[in-house]
Amino acid sequence: MKTLVIGGAGYIGSHVVKALRGAQHQVTVLDNLSSGLRENLQPGTEFVHGDLMLPGSLETAMRGKDAVIHLAAFKAAGESMLVPEKYALNNISGTINILNAMSASGVSRLVFSSSAAVYGEPEYLPVDENHPTRPENFYGFTKLEIERIMDWYDRLKQIRCASLRYFNAAGYDPEGEIRGLEQNPANLLPVVMEVAAGLRPSLRIFGNDYDTPDGTGVRDYIHVTDLADAHLRALDRIARDDTSLTVNLGSETGLSVLEILESSRSITGREIPAEIVARRPGDPAKLVASAARARDLLGWSPRHSDLETLVGTSWEAYRRR
Ligand code: UDP
Repeated sequence: MKTLVIGGAGYIGSHVVKALRGAQHQVTVLDNLSSGLRENLQPGTEFVHGDLMLPGSLETAMRGKDAVIHLAAFKAAGESMLVPEKYALNNISGTINILNAMSASGVSRLVFSSSAAVYGEPEYLPVDENHPTRPENFYGFTKLEIERIMDWYDRLKQIRCASLRYFNAAGYDPEGEIRGLEQNPANLLPVVMEVAAGLRPSLRIFGNDYDTPDGTGVRDYIHVTDLADAHLRALDRIARDDTSLTVNLGSETGLSVLEILESSRSITGREIPAEIVARRPGDPAKLVASAARARDLLGWSPRHSDLETLVGTSWEAYRRR
């Protein structure tokens, strides 16, 4: 299959490209390198330095392709509440540009990076795909809005879409081939790794008075290589059955901030100083996925998302630096 990966130089995108190449896809990466990294571009992969805001560059890149995987979005929930304009334009308008370019070029399969942020504060656990969608931040709203627009393009333009609602993506390529580290990360595991590597003085733990076993926030961490595998399966499925789908991608296991910290101390052998600070606004106590639908529809199950592999592969990537 000839597959265009928009955002393929980013953290998740580069892992998806690796998986596609392993499955003999002919891959083109389109990226504006605003957060994606040149060093994530794998030899033999065609690269287009394009932008979602330049519809012409999208249409050109789509010519002759069989499918598009779209991972090019801003993802900092906190920032989205302060600068919604940036998220509205890039995430929502940018995806409309992609859909319109697909429609103009006759490309009818799209795999889209959605997010558990579409659900908002969980009303029950584990969260399945039928859970109400009431995003608590503008970032989550943009993802939900895009899902709704894709639904209409499915009905009106026969563009089949897979919406993959990621829980907490973490870890690095277990084979150590993807080396680009995210710049200024805000997510827990890369922040912990930066402290372990001496790039930051300490970890700030956002609250230890939640209603969880150790008081710190519990999340469902899913290894990026498992995520990448799900993209392949989702693309195969929508192509084979000429249908759209929406699935959660999570490990169905909750890990607390302290569990991640303790495991990181043990695996890295570093002290990793940490301090308790106030809760971060909008953070739920606990978020854990039901991934039953992904299992049923895609035959997918995580293979790398245990705590040791999440932390171990992350430390390998940071230690090399
Ligand atoms: N967290 C923390 N310190 C940090 C970053 C995150 O204590 O510097 C906590 C956060 O409150 C949440 C968990 O780690 O309980 C995961 O946060 P992250 O930002 O990685 O993902 P989110 O769940 O917000 O999408």
